[in-house]
Amino acid sequence: MTSLSRRAALRGTMAAGGVALVAARTRGALAAAGASDGPASPLVLNDASRLNPTPVARHVVRGAEPFATLVDALRAELKDAAAAGRPVAVGAARHSMGGQSLPRDGTALTLDSRQIEVDPANRLYRAAAGARWSDVIRTLDPLGLSPLVMQSNHDFGVASTFSVNAHGWPTPHGPFGSTVRSLRLMLADGSVVTCSPAQNADLFAHAMGGYGLVGIILDLDVQMTPNLLLEPRTERMPAEAFAERFLAEVHDPKVVMAYGRLSLRRRTFFEEALLTSYRPAEPQPGALPAATSDSMVTRLSNDVYRAQIGYETMKSLRWAMETRLGPAIASGIATRNTLMNEPVANLHNPDPRRTDILHEYFVEPARFGDFLRVCRDIIPKAQAEFINVTLRYVAADRTARLAFAPTERIAAVMSFSQAMTSDGEADMRSVTERLIEAVVAIGGTFYLPYRLHARRDQVARAYPNAAAFAARKRELDPRGLFRNALWQAYFA
Ligand SMILES: Cc1cc2nc3c(=O)[nH]c(=O)nc-3n(C[C@H](O)[C@H](O)[C@H](O)COP(=O)(O)OP(=O)(O)OC[C@H]3O[C@@H](n4cnc5c(N)ncnc54)[C@H](O)[C@@H]3O)c2cc1C
Repeated sequence: MTSLSRRAALRGTMAAGGVALVAARTRGALAAAGASDGPASPLVLNDASRLNPTPVARHVVRGAEPFATLVDALRAELKDAAAAGRPVAVGAARHSMGGQSLPRDGTALTLDSRQIEVDPANRLYRAAAGARWSDVIRTLDPLGLSPLVMQSNHDFGVASTFSVNAHGWPTPHGPFGSTVRSLRLMLADGSVVTCSPAQNADLFAHAMGGYGLVGIILDLDVQMTPNLLLEPRTERMPAEAFAERFLAEVHDPKVVMAYGRLSLRRRTFFEEALLTSYRPAEPQPGALPAATSDSMVTRLSNDVYRAQIGYETMKSLRWAMETRLGPAIASGIATRNTLMNEPVANLHNPDPRRTDILHEYFVEPARFGDFLRVCRDIIPKAQAEFINVTLRYVAADRTARLAFAPTERIAAVMSFSQAMTSDGEADMRSVTERLIEAVVAIGGTFYLPYRLHARRDQVARAYPNAAAFAARKRELDPRGLFRNALWQAYFA
């Protein structure tokens, strides 16, 4: 049993991106160790926002171990939590930003086995729930293989990526869940079921983008593809022209990855776009260079990225670097694995008084012009500093019960730098509510792994299956064992 010990506590902190654990010798630790030492400070976990300190009764970290041992241990944890009336929530890196992986006064489980088995004949790999994307790339890269879809930044857990149904920039794919062939899921009663789009399809659809609310994913069989050396093409254009050009590139069979960016300076906010698409370099070399993850260029760009906060001219400099200098000084040729193998550390925020908050909106390509107008109207007025937007393609997802892309969408991944004050928080809540209202009014949706600033009615409108999802969750988990802050805010 890997219950919380001092060392496990520290590992838990690391597993949570260095933000999680503030107390090592705690009531939870002592309880897990079967010891007692009178009143102790509570065990507090947090997530990537650093705005969700949440007391938990236990934090159990499970490392590499035989499958049967893991199953027995998790069953014991579920039984124990059910007897005590405590909620249970699983997490990996805890980079969601609204307590989606945090059970208040409950049992926090961190699945930390990084095991990956490759099945080249079927072009699949089996990843333990806690395997991180860096582990997947480290395993596949020497074999000349690559994940078919993964989210950007390699620090996150594979099961987490399925549980938020994240998307990435390989094209022309739907969200990550569309590349998962099957998975093993532990339900609230401790039973283990295999589910896939064909077998126990209803469970699969509720677990995909289900935020851990219907069960604990134990492992997943996921599609992979050959790794390739890729060559970028960049194109600068008026933002209004982006959607049409982006779709043309995404649907070009030669294009395998693509993304866009928009100008950020307030004076020309969202007026210009940059489209970057990648095609296989010709000819492909006999042996591909090994995947790397910490280029000098990335570190340099992070300095400029941070310097944008409060300095409009730095936004112009960054735009010039991206649109002109970058393409002029470097070929940009890289393997698929290197392009996706980016650590979150490259976005490191050194200012303890500020935090980076992500938003994400999904709009139909035909409504992209309306989306630009909505953003121009709302974002530049915010107190929070808007520091990035990346545009991605997401094919229609007809599987997930809580699908954010029920039809083909352009995803806008946005990053704000927010002051960690009550004013900063009130400003962020108001900007989020207004953006969601306007995006939903043009038929769009928003993403659920971030701050829980959407109103309940906004969730219901953006996710018409939300009530049915909650009803099915209650059937599968009648005692409400799997609960996190997302459940409490929108479904409880
Ligand atoms: C810098 C940054 C970059 C990002 N990039 C992208 C991106 O490119 N595309 C995108 O779509 N999203 C992106 N996100 C959002 C991110 O995908 C999610 O927050 C993701 O889940 C984080 O992984 P994690 O391991 O930190 O998950 P956690 O925060 O630990 O967990 C996320 C959810 O998954 C559930 N979960 C975790 N493990 C299991 C399990 N074994 N069984 C059942 N449920 C489980 C948790 O309970 C929780 O609800 C990004 C976030 C950040 C902060």
